[in-house]
Amino acid sequence: MQGNRYTGLIGAYGDRLPLTPGARPISLGEGNTPLIRLENLPVARDRDIELYVKYEGLNPTASFKDRGMTVAVTQAVAEGSEAIICASTGNTSASAAAYAARAGIKAFVLIPDGKIAMGKLAQAIMHGAEVLQIRGNFDDGMRIVKEMAEQAPVSLVNSVNPYRLQGQKTAAFEICEALGAAPDYHCLPVGNAGNITAYWMGYSEMVLSPGQAGTQACGFCGGDCQFHQGVGGKRPVMLGYQASGSAPFLRGGPVSHPETLATAIRIGAPQSWDYARTASRESGGWFDEFSDEAILDAQWQLASHEGIFCEPASVVSVAGALRDIDNGQIPAGSRVVCTLTGHGLKDPDVAQRHAESAVSTVDASGAAVREAILGKMG
Ligand SMILES: *Cc1c(COP(=O)(O)O)cnc(C)c1O
Repeated sequence: MQGNRYTGLIGAYGDRLPLTPGARPISLGEGNTPLIRLENLPVARDRDIELYVKYEGLNPTASFKDRGMTVAVTQAVAEGSEAIICASTGNTSASAAAYAARAGIKAFVLIPDGKIAMGKLAQAIMHGAEVLQIRGNFDDGMRIVKEMAEQAPVSLVNSVNPYRLQGQKTAAFEICEALGAAPDYHCLPVGNAGNITAYWMGYSEMVLSPGQAGTQACGFCGGDCQFHQGVGGKRPVMLGYQASGSAPFLRGGPVSHPETLATAIRIGAPQSWDYARTASRESGGWFDEFSDEAILDAQWQLASHEGIFCEPASVVSVAGALRDIDNGQIPAGSRVVCTLTGHGLKDPDVAQRHAESAVSTVDASGAAVREAILGKMG
């Protein structure tokens, strides 16, 4: 921090991030996103549930990927890297492109053939990334960039890069600080499964006392890591939700042709499979799945009843929370946080399906508009 000015995650949590000492932070002021209590969704109200969303769509490139990218790019630059590479369903490429631009280095991004939301591609292009669209899906891209990181002078910034998860864990810190403790349940969309891993790491470091965490949770820093905070209390139950056409955690293994319009979680072979299984098991959590129709419905409910517009992949966290509150798996009186991973404007095309009922064409006269207003007021 410089004075009271917020300077991003490395400024706020640098002492808990394993960066090379003296590394120059590459930051766009990411993090410090709002934790918003939902007020209008009846299920939560009726069951006396404190239901919050962590609105990660308000990061600089409009997804949570910026938390990991500031740390990964800062470390890559500190190590002398002049180029980064990633495979992406869209948001990782947008974030990598922006942080590379900020650092003055090159970004190469591999995106799948089609199936990338317009807003995300626009960002990668505008930030000057070299965009390579491969004739394959995300999982193919992932395989190739791992090869390239070995064979070419580029640093890999997908979430298999441990600095990514280190950055992403800070969202759990912010939630604990805002609530004064960890929530009872934490709900997340799961694609590559890096984020659920990172949150579990973050909660573990925040909640467990030093020495207690160790191999139980913190796979990156080992047993007696200086970052463990030990504020006490319990860690949340971690709930991971997927799209039915792309749900390897529900099928018990990789899915070879993942399909869903929630493109950010259209991933069949999650890279953090073992970590995510561990987080789920250790926390007493579970995985569940949603159809594309249910995802779009939840996105509409949240946008039209709470004023919060997130992209389709994000909202499976809320859809999951509402279902599990409704069926009693999340008991009355619980405190629940859902991560909204990306902003709705990333993927404006999905709004088109509501356009017919929302947009009426009227004459350009006061009388016509007045009539329309009175008609809509009912
Ligand atoms: C990356 C992403 C996800 C999935 O996160 P993982 O860490 O890959 O599980 C979900 N939603 C959005 C909007 C994303 O950009």
